[in-house]
Amino acid sequence: MTLPHLKNKLFINNEYVASRSGEVLTVRSPRDESILAEDIPRAGKLDVDDAVQAAQAAFKTSWGIISGNERAKIMLKFADILEENAALLAGLEMMAMGQPISVALELAKMAPAMFRHYAGYCDKIYGEVLPEDGNEQYSLVQYQPIGVCAGIAAWNATLVFFAVKVAPALAAGNTFIFKPSEKSPLAALALGDLIACAGFPPGAINIVTGSGETGSLLASHMLIRKISFTGSLAAGRKVQQAATASNLKSVTLELGGKSPSIIFEDADMENAVNHSSSSFLLNSGQICIAASRILVHQKIAEAFTSHLQARFEALAHAMGDPESPETFLGPLADRAQTESVLEFFSQGRKDGVQFLIGGTKHEKGGNYVQPTIMVGGRLDSVTWTKEIFGPALSIRTFETEEEAIQLANDTSFGLSACVYTSDIARALRVSGLIEAGNIAINSAYRPGHTVPFGGWKESGNGAREGGLAGLKSYMETKSILINMKVGRR
Ligand code: NDP
Repeated sequence: MTLPHLKNKLFINNEYVASRSGEVLTVRSPRDESILAEDIPRAGKLDVDDAVQAAQAAFKTSWGIISGNERAKIMLKFADILEENAALLAGLEMMAMGQPISVALELAKMAPAMFRHYAGYCDKIYGEVLPEDGNEQYSLVQYQPIGVCAGIAAWNATLVFFAVKVAPALAAGNTFIFKPSEKSPLAALALGDLIACAGFPPGAINIVTGSGETGSLLASHMLIRKISFTGSLAAGRKVQQAATASNLKSVTLELGGKSPSIIFEDADMENAVNHSSSSFLLNSGQICIAASRILVHQKIAEAFTSHLQARFEALAHAMGDPESPETFLGPLADRAQTESVLEFFSQGRKDGVQFLIGGTKHEKGGNYVQPTIMVGGRLDSVTWTKEIFGPALSIRTFETEEEAIQLANDTSFGLSACVYTSDIARALRVSGLIEAGNIAINSAYRPGHTVPFGGWKESGNGAREGGLAGLKSYMETKSILINMKVGRR
């Protein structure tokens, strides 16, 4: 693929502007470490201040005061433009993070759907009226936009994170500053032209690039009123701390996971194998909800494991150039991610873990890592307890439902879980007992934009993205009490 013209400036006030920090970062191709861009701005304090000022002006004078109907019109136009440009945006994601083009396209198409979904809410933000109830007080509840909001994203699905944060925020009347990861800023920067073309007023959506330091400037900014963060637990904690230490801004945290799949003896084996292989390995396992801890009933463990291994071996042959539509597995996002995954394997070996397949780099070299199945090892082994965020899962067996639930919940994470069984009563009983925000029955979990999504425990902070819950997370609640005694004769 020839490189399209890459944007190398920040997008503030509907214009591409050079960063005032003058600092830049380099983006390399995960395929071969070649340089894709070496002039992507690192937004510093002055740049973040400019973006906040633009967003605040738009909140007070344009986007924040126009009617819901007008907001919807612009968001719907933007959705059409995103759809028309899905191939370009997917290509940029593919180049920067090695995502196979088929996967990148699928994710790019989710963004317009999210903007359309939330455009529908723009003129339906209703309040409530509470009856007098004998206290001679009449009460109104109103939902209002918060003001300037910000979003910080992980690198594995930039366009999805952009849409799931920006669309509800804008529908509610807020203005926004979005920061993609330094590993995948190319598609996010390309959005600037599309934003201006859709007719958003200047400052409604701003895009700043940079590393964690830029994210930290957003998290601690005194004039940003809400921040939504998608990324690791370690960085999420820092965002929460910075928000608390600055202006107590509202925080949504979408963090990592170590999700279990419980496969009972009466499960449809082919279906469970499919989802534990093709669905798990989508994006090379670099998906927060990837179910990387398989708990399989002892009676079917041998058959399940050998089927799964055969499927992993077959899928390893579909590893290749992310640009090819036939490629199912691309390289990992960058050298640091590859080294981190390989370090888990080496630690696992020390903990007595056995590798049924994989556990090494692929012969293609670079950032290509073999799809990997691990068995055995201690319950406190890092490969069983920590998020690897790569094409690697571990398998353990269980004998009873209680044991399966206990093992599934024996984690500090609580993002998602899968339950495979043909007994619906058992599926619902087990789903009810699992400590996670998102459960799939007889399938891998696939977040949809109409359904609330978020994690329990160390996978999130309770706020939800998606659907009505996502919209509400970008609104303040105001109660207005009217004393009915005044003026009464
Ligand atoms: P990181 O936490 O490293 O980075 C996420 C974002 O935070 C990046 O934009 C990063 O900047 C920025 N950042 C880093 N440090 C700080 C800081 N101190 N203050 C503010 N921002 C900061 O995560 P990854 O990008 O490596 O993503 C992988 C993680 O994301 C996994 O744990 C995965 O499970 C999780 N994730 C969670 C999802 C969910 O919905 N629950 C969905 C997808 C991923 P930069 O990268 O530019 O340095």
